[in-house]
Amino acid sequence: MSRYDRQMKCGAFGTRGQSALSQAVIMITGLGALGSAAAEQLARAGAGHLVLCDMDIVECSNLHRQSCYDEHDASSGALKAEALKHHLLRINSEITVTAVAEEITSLNIERLISMYHPVMMIDGTDQFSTRFLINQACHRHHIPWIYGACLGTKGTVVGIDFTGPCLSCLLSTIPETGEDCSIAGILPPVAHMTAAMQCAEVMNYMAEGRFSNQLLTFNTAVMKFQQTNAAAFADADCPICVHHQYSALAAPPAAVTKLCGGKFLVRVPVELFTDSGLSFQRTSPFFKYYQDDDYQLSLFHDGRVILTGADNTSSAETTVRQLLYR
Ligand SMILES: [Zn+2]
Repeated sequence: MSRYDRQMKCGAFGTRGQSALSQAVIMITGLGALGSAAAEQLARAGAGHLVLCDMDIVECSNLHRQSCYDEHDASSGALKAEALKHHLLRINSEITVTAVAEEITSLNIERLISMYHPVMMIDGTDQFSTRFLINQACHRHHIPWIYGACLGTKGTVVGIDFTGPCLSCLLSTIPETGEDCSIAGILPPVAHMTAAMQCAEVMNYMAEGRFSNQLLTFNTAVMKFQQTNAAAFADADCPICVHHQYSALAAPPAAVTKLCGGKFLVRVPVELFTDSGLSFQRTSPFFKYYQDDDYQLSLFHDGRVILTGADNTSSAETTVRQLLYR
């Protein structure tokens, strides 16, 4: 009996859905709560090739909701992309899994698309700047993708096809969930439900060649689900899906970006990973960590610095320079 027998017996998916899924290359950007949960479901369901994109390491604060990682991953400072790849291949050795331990930016997103030719993308990020990139790249390259966001007890999911309204069209409708989980918190079931709904849309598309075209929002505190016809929000003057102005793809990554949870991303020359005179308290081949009374700083091998303790982007840049150029 096929290991996929139970899902193939489900009429809405069937042998057609299974056949399409088994041949599909699916790129998942962001391997936190959403991306890792979606990846696990798709690995078990027999997705042909999963391309896992994330530049972060596993942290202890991830473990309550990111069920594919464990304490050993956190204590060893494992890269999420690599840790998840090994986890998925233990679940299903018949599929192909590629780990891409890179930050998704305008400099690499189209290169990765031309390298792996994904037929679908899943949004597992928690930043709108990255979602704008995904939206524009997917529209330009005719790749359907699935937006997902969650915060507290609320989740939002919508499948975005290049023939329908895009993220830019929907922006006025999508609640700003998922923007700062370190402050508002996130309940594990909400993250898993959001990822499950994203995977349900993958299976809809594999079986029928289309999404449900519903914008789904839910709140587990009151067990309320709402759905809205996404097509109703098409913007006849949308710069992306109507006028094909892909400005985010042409812009270089910002030197400093404010992140979720009072953190700042500052980009520095990659040589500083080996050349900085700062006395780091923790080091691995991928990152170095420093902490004092005022700041916490993680320096990654690709030149990214995550700083906690700064008040704004300007002071973040100044602080990073003062610390790393000692
Ligand atoms: Zn649009």
